[in-house]
Parts: sequence; C-alpha cells; structure tokens
Amino acid sequence: PTGGRVPFIAGNWKMNLDHLQAIAFVQKLAWSLKDATHDYSATEVVVFPPFTDLRSVQTLISADKLELGFGAQDVSEHESGAYTGEISAAFLKALETPYVIVGHSERRTLHHETDEQLAAKVAAAVKHGIVPVICVGETAEDLEKHGPSAVPVAQLRAALAQAADAKDIVVAYEPVWAIGSGQAATPEQAEQVAAQLRIVLSEVLGEDVAQATRVLYGGSVKAANIAGFMRQPNVDGALVGGASLDIAEFSGIAQFL
Ligand code: PGA
Repeated sequence: PTGGRVPFIAGNWKMNLDHLQAIAFVQKLAWSLKDATHDYSATEVVVFPPFTDLRSVQTLISADKLELGFGAQDVSEHESGAYTGEISAAFLKALETPYVIVGHSERRTLHHETDEQLAAKVAAAVKHGIVPVICVGETAEDLEKHGPSAVPVAQLRAALAQAADAKDIVVAYEPVWAIGSGQAATPEQAEQVAAQLRIVLSEVLGEDVAQATRVLYGGSVKAANIAGFMRQPNVDGALVGGASLDIAEFSGIAQFL
C-alpha cells in the first residue's frame, strides 16, 4: 500500500467453525498475533465468521480487548419484515459489527445475487454505519472475453450506484478463477485491476475517499505469496478464505513482510 492506508488482512471463514470453535480459534489467533514480532498496531486483522458466531466473537473481542476486528459475511438489502432467513444491517449494528462482506462471488453465483441487490446491500450497510467490504472479480471466461478489469470495474460501479455519499468502504478484488483454486493472480495482475478500481472510486466517491479506501486482493492468498501483493502501491491487504482457517498460516499472512 501507499498513501498511509492501514493494511487490512481479512479472514473469510465461509461456512466453517461453529460458535464454540470460533471462541477457541479467536483466542488462539489473538495469542499468535501477540507473540509475533510484527507491529500489529499498524495492521488491521479482521475475521468474518458465520452469523451464529458473531455474538460470541464480539463479546470475546470486546471483553478481552483483543486487537482483532470482525465482520459478517452477508447482510440483507431489506430494512425488516417478511424475509425469512435474512439478517438486517440494523441487527448487525446492534452487535456493534464494524464490517460486512457484500457480493462475494459465492453469493453472486450460488445465490444469484444481482448487481442491483448488491447496490441495495451496500446502501443498507452504509446507512447503518457498517463498512461494506465490496467484492468484485471476473471469471476465467470474463477474463478471456473482456480482459482483466472490465468486469470488476463494472461490478464496482454497480455496487456503488446507491452509495455515492459513502465515505468508508473496503473493496476486495477477487478473480473468481483464483478463489480456492491454489492459482493466485500475480501481484502485477492484482495491482493492474486495483489501480483501475481506485479510478472508479475517485470518479464515484471523490479523490479523497478513493485515496483513503483500502483495496484488497483475494484468491488463494497464503503466507508464501502475501508479500508480493503487499508491495503493490494499490493493494492494501488481502481477503483470505481457506488459509484463514489455519492459525499459523493466517498469522503468517498478517505478518506479510
Ligand atoms: P481462498 O478464498 O483464499 O480460499 O482462495 C478467498 C475468498 O473466497 O474470499
């Protein structure tokens, strides 16, 4: 990263770890980070557990003043009402949830979430003062047809359609072909798209917000490849899936140097 942006290392647990496992995991992770030589005051490390873990994780982090953040993996675009199974931004706010992932490719693909729906989710999060971590990324087919940045750029524009006044967001560039495949993008590929995304941020939210916004890379990030990403001027952190479930590996990523 450049421009004084605080690095952001996020662990997306997906549908793993129940609340009891989460408590043990977060305690061990906090210990592991505490023991490390890296200066964590200069890095934000944030876990994204399943909904049913959030209360336990929030209580643990606040009671023990752990140097960890947390967030939810999704949020409803609706305020309240007859939406069986949904969780509102107001509920997340009531748990003092600082962050929420919006538009992960698994939600887009498996749950058919549309750009319009995601724009409404971003707006709901922003309205309640929760920072959305907006995920964008192209499939292998998109990459072949449209080149590296066209799809992520269009997805980011669409996601911000109802949030032109947002001041605090995080963007995660996650090429779908790199997620869970073991085949990460190169740092140069990630930088190229991150730079384009920052241009979109500047056009939609203004230059100051664009310069302050963390843009992450996600897709097969490991302790062994994180350093190359973190050396890129426009890449400010990582959204980590599989490797975030291994404490040694994830704290290695959080030490990234
Ligand atoms: P991965 O997942 O690190 O397992 O590739 C990344 C993600 O889905 O956010």
